Amino acid sequence: MNNWKKLKLFLRLSWKTVPSYIVLLLVHTLVSGAQVALNVVLPKFLIDELTGGCEVRGLLFFGGLVVGSNLFFAWMERFMKRRMDVQHTYVSQKMEQLLGEKVMSLPYARLEDPYYLDLKERAAFAFLNQEAMLNLITGLAALLQKGSTLFGLTVILLTLSPVLAAVLLVLVGVMVLLQKRLSVELQKIHEMILPINRRYGYYVTLAFSDAIQKDIRLYNMAGMLGDRIDWYNQDMTNTFDTFRRQEGFYMGLYNVINDLQAAISYGYVGLRVVTDWFGRRIGLGSFTMYVNAAVQFSANITEFGQRIVDLQKLLGYLDPFMELMELPEETEVLEGVPFTGPVESIVFEKVDFAYPGSEKKVLDQVSFSVKKGEKIAVVGLNGAGKTTLIKLLCRLYQPCGGRILVNGQDIMSYDYASYMAQLAAVFQDYRLFAFTIEENISCRETGQDRNKVEKLAAQVGLSEKIKELPEGLRTLLGKAYDEEGTELSGGQQQKVAIARALYKDASLIILDEPTSALDPLAEAEIYENFNDLAGGKTAFYISHRMSSSVFCDKILVIEDGRVADFASHEELMKKEDGLYRRMFQAQAGNYV
Ligand code: ADP
Repeated sequence: MNNWKKLKLFLRLSWKTVPSYIVLLLVHTLVSGAQVALNVVLPKFLIDELTGGCEVRGLLFFGGLVVGSNLFFAWMERFMKRRMDVQHTYVSQKMEQLLGEKVMSLPYARLEDPYYLDLKERAAFAFLNQEAMLNLITGLAALLQKGSTLFGLTVILLTLSPVLAAVLLVLVGVMVLLQKRLSVELQKIHEMILPINRRYGYYVTLAFSDAIQKDIRLYNMAGMLGDRIDWYNQDMTNTFDTFRRQEGFYMGLYNVINDLQAAISYGYVGLRVVTDWFGRRIGLGSFTMYVNAAVQFSANITEFGQRIVDLQKLLGYLDPFMELMELPEETEVLEGVPFTGPVESIVFEKVDFAYPGSEKKVLDQVSFSVKKGEKIAVVGLNGAGKTTLIKLLCRLYQPCGGRILVNGQDIMSYDYASYMAQLAAVFQDYRLFAFTIEENISCRETGQDRNKVEKLAAQVGLSEKIKELPEGLRTLLGKAYDEEGTELSGGQQQKVAIARALYKDASLIILDEPTSALDPLAEAEIYENFNDLAGGKTAFYISHRMSSSVFCDKILVIEDGRVADFASHEELMKKEDGLYRRMFQAQAGNYV
C-alpha cells in the first residue's frame, strides 16, 4: 500500500472514530496559522506609525491590535489545548477499541492463521508502544498548520519580490529532495527493523502474559526470556544507530541550505531598505515584516520537513494496523437468507477440509445425517478431526469440498447472525469473562431471565457454590478487576460455561470435551441429566470419557478424518474389532 492510500484510509478511519477531535484539531490548526501571519503583518503597521505619522490614535489602535490579538490567540490556544489534552486519552483508547472490534468481527478462520495472528500482534504493538495513531493524527494537524502558515508567508514574500519568493521556493525544493532521500533510507531501515521488532514485541508481550507465568517459574525461564528481549533490543539499537548517522549527514546538509535561505532573505530585504537596486526602497515597518516573514518561513519549512519524515515513519509503523483494518469482515463476506430455525436436520455431504496453508486433509469425505432432537456422541482418537468437524458446523471455517446442509440448505447460504443464533457450543478452550456469574450465563447486561439463570445454575450443579458467594449470582468472576470477585475452580467454570450454552435459546447444542475438568461425580450427574437439560435440542458431544456416549442416540466414530462408523452404542459394541468397542473397553478396563 502506498503512503497516500494509507493516509486516505487512516483519515477515513479517524473521521469515523473521533470526528469531534478532528474538527478541534482543524480549528486549532487554522487558529495557530492565523496567529503566525498576524504577528508577521501587524508589527509593520505599528512600526510604520512609529517612524511615520506617529499619531497617538494610530499607535494606540495598532498597539492594541497587536496585544489584543495575541491575548485572544493565547487564550484560544490554551482553551483548545485543554480540550485536546482531555480528548487525547479518549482518542487513544477509542483507536484500541477499534482494533478490538475489528478482531471480533473478522472471519474466525483468519484468527487461527499464523500470518494473521502475527499481523494482529504487530498492529497492537504499534498501538501500545508507539502511540502511532495519536501521533499520526497530531502530526498531520501540525503538517497542515505548517503548510497553511507557509502559504501565507509565501504570499507576503511575493508582495515584496517574486524573485526572492522563487529563490526561496527552489531552496525549499532542494530541502524536500533531501527529506525524500532521508525517508527512503528510513524506509530501508524500517524494513530491516520490522522482523526484529516483531520478535521483540512477541517476547515482551509474552513476559507480561499471565498464561505463561506458571511455566516461567517452574522451569526458571525468566532469565532466558530476558536475554531474548535484550538481544532483540540490542539488535534494534544497532540498526537505528546506522540510521542516525545517515540522518546526521542529511540533516547537516539541510541546515546549511536553511541558513543559506536566511542569509539570502536578510541580505535581500536589507538591501531593499538601504538601496534602490532592486526597486523602490522600503520602510522600517516593511523591513520588519519581510524579515519576520523570511525567518518564519525558514523555521516553518524545517519543521514541515521534519513532520513529513515523522509521518512517513508513523505510517510505516501503522502498516500492519492498516492491513488488518482493510480485511473484509464476517458480515461483509457472509450475507445470505435468514435462518429461521429451529434446526430440523443436519447433513454432512462428502465434506473435505484442510486448514489454510496446509495440504493435509483433516476431514475426508465426511458424510452423515442427524435429525432434530438426536443426541450424537463424536468419538475418535486425538487429532482425528472431531473438533474440526464442529468448527465447520459452527461456520468458523468453510469446507474445502462437499456441503453441510441444515434444514436442507447449505449453511453457507444462511445469513451469518441468524444461523449463529441457533447454535450454542462449549469448546475445549471456552472462556468466561470478568463479568458477574449471571452475566456470564445469560451473556446480557440487563433484562436477563433471572429464574432461568437460577434454574440452569442449579441443574449444572452450581447451587451450593452460589449460596456461598456474598453476591450470589451477581458475584463478579475473577479477582483481577475486583477484590469482591471470586475465582471458580476449573470444574465450576465448566459448569458456568455449560449453563451459558443452555441459556441461549439455540436449537443445536455442542459440547466439545465440556467435562474434562469435572470430577467423576459431577460428570456423571451432568451426563445423566443432560438429556433433560438439553430437552428437545439437537446435541453433539465430544468426550474422551467413553461412558458418556452410552447416553447418546448415536455415535459418530471419526478415524483419521473419515467416518468409521455411525450407529448406536449397542450396535457398535457388537463390532468385535471396531474402534469404538476397543476404545470403550480400553477405558472400562481401567475401572474393573
Ligand atoms: P480432535 O478434536 O479429533 O482431537 P482436531 O479436529 O482438533 O482433532 O484436529 C485434527 C487435525 O487438525 C490435527 O492433526 C490437528 O493438528 C490439526 N489442526 C487443528 N487445528 C488446526 C489449525 N488451526 N491449523 C492447522 N491444523 C490444525
